[in-house]
Amino acid sequence: VIPETLHPDAAAVADRVMSDRLWDRHMALARHGATADGGVGRPALSAEDAAARDELRGWAAALGLESSVDDIGNLFLRLAGGEADADPVLTGSHLDSQPTGGRFDGVYGVLAGLEAVEAIAAAGIRPRRSIDVVAWTNEEGGRFAPGMMGSAAFARARDLAEMRAVEDADGVSVAAALDALLAREAALPRRPLGFPAAAYIEAHIEQGPVLEAEGFAAGVVSGIQGKRTFQVTVDGEEAHAGTTPRGARKDALSAAVAMIGALERAMEEDGDEAVMFTIGRLSVAPNVPSVVPAEAVFSVDLRHPESEMLAALGDRVADICNNHRGPCVATVAELINAPSLAFPADMRSLIRAAADAVAVPTMDLISAAGHDARYLHQVCPAAMIFVPCHKGISHNPAESATADDLAAGAKVLTAALLTLADG
Ligand SMILES: [Zn+2]
Repeated sequence: VIPETLHPDAAAVADRVMSDRLWDRHMALARHGATADGGVGRPALSAEDAAARDELRGWAAALGLESSVDDIGNLFLRLAGGEADADPVLTGSHLDSQPTGGRFDGVYGVLAGLEAVEAIAAAGIRPRRSIDVVAWTNEEGGRFAPGMMGSAAFARARDLAEMRAVEDADGVSVAAALDALLAREAALPRRPLGFPAAAYIEAHIEQGPVLEAEGFAAGVVSGIQGKRTFQVTVDGEEAHAGTTPRGARKDALSAAVAMIGALERAMEEDGDEAVMFTIGRLSVAPNVPSVVPAEAVFSVDLRHPESEMLAALGDRVADICNNHRGPCVATVAELINAPSLAFPADMRSLIRAAADAVAVPTMDLISAAGHDARYLHQVCPAAMIFVPCHKGISHNPAESATADDLAAGAKVLTAALLTLADG
């Protein structure tokens, strides 16, 4: 169903993208949860999140788009197509941010989608398929972990009841925060959770340094790097640091250090620069200077763009830990096993053709971070367009992008969406 040739009006319609308007909307949404250092702290399902949604819906209403929500709070802004029962084309990203986030992560994909729809409407085109601009609920997981709840629920990849039970650090559940948001938006039509879609395109800042360094205004994302995460718990025995003979100790931290060293050597032994191996958290109990540690818990975050490699490396984690546990007991729990994925070649070709038509030079690159497109990829042909962000800084108040690059990406998106909806 992916058209092989671009819509004849693609370039002319994309030319209606207005850089100033797109930029001004970013700055307007950045007021919701603005922090003193110029960043944004807008947790999912918070008052700030709700206010950002209100402002977004206001712009959509002025354009004649119909807003609707589903049971996980995904917000849809629809440009109605000519054929009511044709599966819609989806585009979007998320409005929530990390606690110390920036003004572009997520917001860009939503606003670029709105800009594309506005350009299409301004050209007087009513495409055959509807186009839904989507703000997916809780992508970041900064308040309610893990994230990507909206897209996962839409794709039926995770259970709604399980997600509703998740609590934030203050003991507020997703259920409570979500029901409050849905009550606030009770006037909106309620969509079913997950419905057939013809295709999905997500625009996003790269969150890495490649496009800026290489001098490209946009990137065609080849796929999303997978990751496996583990929690390793090492149980030893609490003992006196002065009187317990070395041979009688069950030092959980010593064992953990041996495991971590062995894991690092194993992951890096092939010299493969694509292996990303991180121990981001280590906790020790009782964490007292004169007591032999009874317990050590550490995290393992492992990523690789090739699924086979990721699988092979991840499969070694438990054995390596057990081989270095000494007199202690090691328990290895796998928390996430998300393989790397490749977006369909015909979707990537479409993005490249769209970029050519609007004279935006692109390069292909993989997404090192996860995005809502991971779940949409499970239910329809999906693609992503990246735009540069300064020095690759993201999840940081200093996150920045240029108006020109944001507009260039939005033009590529417009040409591709028009083709998918009306090709
Ligand atoms: Zn994001």
